[in-house]
Amino acid sequence: MPLVTTTEMFKKAYEGKYAIGAFNVNNMEIVQGITEAAADLHSPVILQASAGARKYAKPEYLKHLVEAAVELYPEIPIALHLDHGADFETCKSCIDGGFTSVMIDGSKYAYDENVALTKKVVEYAHAHGVVVEAELGKLAGIEDDVQVAAHEASYTRPEEVEDFVSRTGVDSLAIAIGTSHGAYKFTPEQCTRNADGILVPPELRFDILDEVAKRLPSFPIVLHGASSVLPKYTKVINANGGKMPDAVGIPEDQLRHAASLAVCKINIDSDLRLGMTAGIRKHFVEHPDHFDPRQYVGEGRQNIYDIVSNKIKNVLGSENKA
Ligand SMILES: [Zn+2]
Repeated sequence: MPLVTTTEMFKKAYEGKYAIGAFNVNNMEIVQGITEAAADLHSPVILQASAGARKYAKPEYLKHLVEAAVELYPEIPIALHLDHGADFETCKSCIDGGFTSVMIDGSKYAYDENVALTKKVVEYAHAHGVVVEAELGKLAGIEDDVQVAAHEASYTRPEEVEDFVSRTGVDSLAIAIGTSHGAYKFTPEQCTRNADGILVPPELRFDILDEVAKRLPSFPIVLHGASSVLPKYTKVINANGGKMPDAVGIPEDQLRHAASLAVCKINIDSDLRLGMTAGIRKHFVEHPDHFDPRQYVGEGRQNIYDIVSNKIKNVLGSENKA
């Protein structure tokens, strides 16, 4: 099948109480690792590109890499999504360039401005058969060009969601319930430590998610900043010359719970970055004589395959849902 929108994926995910993984792509090996895992597990998948990815790889490369995956794995639904579109022009350029879904991130603006900008993007997107994700509330953390300090972050206000969705006509909504961008989602002071000394972050605000779901029945909700920052990989990084003390993410059991509720799309980027880095660092330490990029990038790609497989099976619940 050709690239699809997320409409059908989200409908089935909502009814089936699972979520679709939205994985950020920046180069060939990342696209390969993600889509091979999704195909092997018969899972639908969303590949998403941020402004930073488009700058790094050029939109043409990204689009054709994704099209190669679509050609190789015609049996699974694949959507191509713009992550954090900052303005109408960026969204328009992706819609014109073959993306099937875009996010317009108006969360940095006042409510009415966010409504007006989102509505403008929705009108253009829907006229071209493309779906739109918007955001209410503000996540803390750093992701490419998006930077929000912890004190500027704010939870989504459930009392705004019905008005926002009906005025904009948006297809899905990212909400802020305590997830955060990057590999350092919480400071050690915000966390407790478990018996192994690993930081345990505060629980997500499921009360907000419940209230949003009550007000928007059957409407797909999106979680950004939802990597788990798996200690399995940060340990490998730190044991092989890296320095990432106290990196911390969202525990996988909380994401699994969110996926069984109204959350239909879970964004995962940092976990892939950590997997790629762990593979390459370990390879260099174990094989100081190697200089063929296929050897060390290949080990990073294998980690991405493993991480995505685990997410599909144990966190998202999207195995065999293609
Ligand atoms: Zn995000």
